[in-house]
Amino acid sequence: MDIARIRDMAQKMAEPATEMRRFLHTNPEPSWHEVETTRFIASELEETGFKGIKIGVEGKPVGLVADLKGKEDGPLVALRTDIDALSITEEGDLPYKSRRDGASHACGHDGHIAILLHTAKLLYSMKDEFSGGVRFIFQPAEEKGDHSGAPAMVKEGVLDGVDAVAGMHLWAHVPTGRVQWRAGPVMASVDGWEVKFFGQGGHGAMPQNAVDPTVTAANFILALQTVVSREVNPLETGVISVGKLVSGDVINIIPDRAEMIGNIRTFNPTVRDKMEAAFRRIAEGVAATYRCRAEIKYTTLYPPVINDSSLAELLRDTALQVVGENNVEESPMLMASEDFSFYQMKVPGVLFFLGSGDEAKGTTAPHHSPKFNVDDTVLPTGISLMTAFALNMLEKLREGRSS
Ligand SMILES: [Zn+2]
Ligand SMILES: [Zn+2]
Repeated sequence: MDIARIRDMAQKMAEPATEMRRFLHTNPEPSWHEVETTRFIASELEETGFKGIKIGVEGKPVGLVADLKGKEDGPLVALRTDIDALSITEEGDLPYKSRRDGASHACGHDGHIAILLHTAKLLYSMKDEFSGGVRFIFQPAEEKGDHSGAPAMVKEGVLDGVDAVAGMHLWAHVPTGRVQWRAGPVMASVDGWEVKFFGQGGHGAMPQNAVDPTVTAANFILALQTVVSREVNPLETGVISVGKLVSGDVINIIPDRAEMIGNIRTFNPTVRDKMEAAFRRIAEGVAATYRCRAEIKYTTLYPPVINDSSLAELLRDTALQVVGENNVEESPMLMASEDFSFYQMKVPGVLFFLGSGDEAKGTTAPHHSPKFNVDDTVLPTGISLMTAFALNMLEKLREGRSS
């Protein structure tokens, strides 16, 4: 594979990719509302020459899948991007700022789309040079926790016939153009929980006539801290966080209920089960201790992102070719989560990070913050990486078949 040529072709796409990324940034659509975004992607692919594009998932006109066939039959690899924005109002005064209040591309998925669309264009122009196929997955609703796009697409067969899948996430915490890769566990599972403690309301001066759910909630929060510190093996890792606590609203009334929500994250399915069980036991137990009744809702959200080792190594080798050894490093494990894991439950897959943080350009604000933005100079690097990696995966899979 001629890396210099791929890099060159990708670099020539810098301007249109930047323009596209900024257009998408101005027109964000939150999870399951990516209708215009989907239409835009479809028309770009059709213009390129793609045929048989499959639009929509769960009967909604959001998300799409497009296949590219090489010169001969062979393995099929999938490249996936997410396409949704977040329900956050953008701050700042970028010339291409979001035009929608309450919606912005605050996670970089605008950059992901621009990179994958241009990767599709580049690979299309090379389709007579490789064997096998590349499937492009433009997935809606990555951010939608309890109803995200990946499991819906997998259920509808997006991975049928696919031998390997790759995904990339831009990463503001890493300098522009640096690639972070990792074999094995890389992002945590996430589950959501909700607890309501029901007591008995009363006068703030007469606690003896009430059952106080606020004190119950306070004890619960403290007891919860022992799940990780005392029940999980210290060599494993996990986190429980409380995201919200609501109880009462005036100075002289003991309320009749306290409501809380939060999340649990870990990398290990056994630890995940253990944390859920401990969480339930402590909620019930603390409620009983303080004469309250607990109502619990527990929702399993995303599995952990666990990268296939040989694909991860191939990604590292590809990155070394594309960005050079000074720009490739092992990623730390992250307690954040990604629904890319649903693809990995079906076929071997790898998710990696591409740095897009540049202090001078103001692109180091954390993901999901109202000032988040992408350094557009990273786009050609992303295009080169995805293109080269797709070709390397196909080659490696072909070798595996013939040996
Ligand atoms: Zn996000
Ligand atoms: Zn994201």
